[in-house]
Amino acid sequence: MRIFLPDGKVLEVENIKGKRILDLLPQSREYLVAKVDGKPVDLTYILEGNEEKVEVFDFKSDLGRETYWHTSAHILAQAVKELFPDVKITIGPAIENGFYYDFDLGGKTFTPEDLKKIEERMREIIKRDLPLKREILKKDEAIKLFKNIGEDYKIEILEEIPDEYVSVYRQGDFVDLCRGPHLPSTGYVRAIKILSSSSSYWRGDETREVLQRVYGISFPDKSQLKEYMKKLEEAKARDHRKLGRELDLFSINEDVGPGLILWHPKGATIRMIIEDFWRKEHIKRGYQPVYTPHVGRTKLWEISGHLEYYKENMYPSMKLENVEYYIKPMNCPFHILIYKSRGRSYRDLPIRYAEMGTVYRYERSGVLHGLLRVRGFTQDDAHIFCTPEQVEDEIVKVLDFTLFILKSFGFKDFNIYVSTRPEDSVGSPEMWELATKSLIKAVEKLNLKYSIDEGGGAFYGPKIDVKIKDALGREWQCSTIQFDFNLPERFDITYRDKDG
Ligand SMILES: [Zn+2]
Ligand SMILES: [Zn+2]
Repeated sequence: MRIFLPDGKVLEVENIKGKRILDLLPQSREYLVAKVDGKPVDLTYILEGNEEKVEVFDFKSDLGRETYWHTSAHILAQAVKELFPDVKITIGPAIENGFYYDFDLGGKTFTPEDLKKIEERMREIIKRDLPLKREILKKDEAIKLFKNIGEDYKIEILEEIPDEYVSVYRQGDFVDLCRGPHLPSTGYVRAIKILSSSSSYWRGDETREVLQRVYGISFPDKSQLKEYMKKLEEAKARDHRKLGRELDLFSINEDVGPGLILWHPKGATIRMIIEDFWRKEHIKRGYQPVYTPHVGRTKLWEISGHLEYYKENMYPSMKLENVEYYIKPMNCPFHILIYKSRGRSYRDLPIRYAEMGTVYRYERSGVLHGLLRVRGFTQDDAHIFCTPEQVEDEIVKVLDFTLFILKSFGFKDFNIYVSTRPEDSVGSPEMWELATKSLIKAVEKLNLKYSIDEGGGAFYGPKIDVKIKDALGREWQCSTIQFDFNLPERFDITYRDKDG
C-alpha cells in the first residue's frame, strides 16, 4: 500500500494489518491527520490491511488545520470543565480562523480573569500531552454516559442522531461526543490563545438558552501565532465599524433596529459619489435605469415563489384595507413586470435594467456585522433579458463590467467560483448545461482562474460568484452573476422571435 505524505513523498509500506498509520510514518509532529481511501481518520486509526491508499495531511492543508483547531476546541472545553465543573458543554467546531466552544454557565459570563485562567489551563493540558482516544458506543450507552456527567446538551444532540452507533473522544478525564478526526495527542498543539468571548444561543435560536462562546486560535509555531495576532490588531484598527464611528460616516440605533443603517452626511456623500460613478458606467454599457416600489402584494410574492422558498428571510406582512403586502427582499419580480408591461420582440433584446434597489431581509441578529451583514441594504442590481444566442456574449460583458467596477475601487485579488446544479432545482438539464457552459466560457474568455463549486448553484440557476480579498487577505463574497430559469417561467414572460 502507498502512503502519500504532504510534501509529495510517497511511502511504500507492507504488512500494514493491525498497525496504526502513525507507526508507519517518519517521526514528526507535522503529520496531523489522514484520509484512508478518501475518508478522514485519526493518525491512530488501525489499518485493516485491505486499504488502497492513505493520504497524510499537515497544517498547510484545510483538513490539517480543521483537525488542529477542532482538537484545540476540545482542549478549551477540557480546561473549562476542570476549572468550572458546573458548566455544561455544548458544541465546539473549527471555524475559518481558529475555533470556538459554546458553554452554558447558567446565565453567568466569563470574566477576563476567567479567560486568562482558562488559557493557562489549556497550556497545561497541552503539556500533559494527553492522547485523544476514539471510542465507538451504542447510542443508548452514549446517552447514559453523558447523563451520568450531566451533559444535557450532548443528550439532546444524541437523541437527534439517527445512527445506532456514535463516536466519543476522550483525553484524560474529559470526554466529548464527536465525529472526529483528531490529533493523536494534546501536545501536538504548540501555540494557543483565547481571542474573545461573547454570548450566543443554543442552536442559534433566540428562544433557547443563552450560552457563552469562547473563541480561540492555535498554531504549530509560536511565530505563526505572533504574526496572526499582529494581523488581528491591524484588522481591528481598520475595522469599518470603528472607522464608521470615528469618521462620523454611519451609525446603527437600537430604536431603529439592528442591521438598519443610518448614513451620516459624510458617509452619504461617499455613497453618492459611488452611486454617480455606478450610474454613469451602467448607462455607458447600455443599461437602462428603473425605479421600483418597496412593497408588493402577497400575490406578487406567490407568483415569484418567494413566499414558498424565501419566506424565512422576509419581514412579516402588513395588511391594509384587507390587502396584504410584503416589503421586498429582492428586486427581480418588479423588473420582470416592467419587461412584461408590453410585447417584446427579439429586436428589443438584450434589455438591461439597472436599479439601486433597497431591499430588506431578515438576518439572525447573531450574524449582523456593521455594513457587511445587515437587514436593510441597497443592491446595485441589474437584470438582463436576452435570447439564448446572446447569453454568452452578455455574460462576458457582465463579468468584465464587474471586474472593472471592483478594480476601480482598488480590488485586484479575486477568487471566482462557478456554482453548478444542486440536487433540488428547476429548469431542464439542457438549460442548466447551456447556462453553466456559457458561464465557464465567459470566465475562460477573460483568462480568469476559477474553481467549480459543484452543486453550489441556487435552485433556479447556476452562477458566478466573485469574492474579493481585504487588506488582511480575508475573503468576502461580493458580486454574483446569476442565471434565473425560474422567474421568467413563473411570470410567463416571452418575446416574439424571427419566425413570429
Ligand atoms: Zn469534537
Ligand atoms: Zn434578481
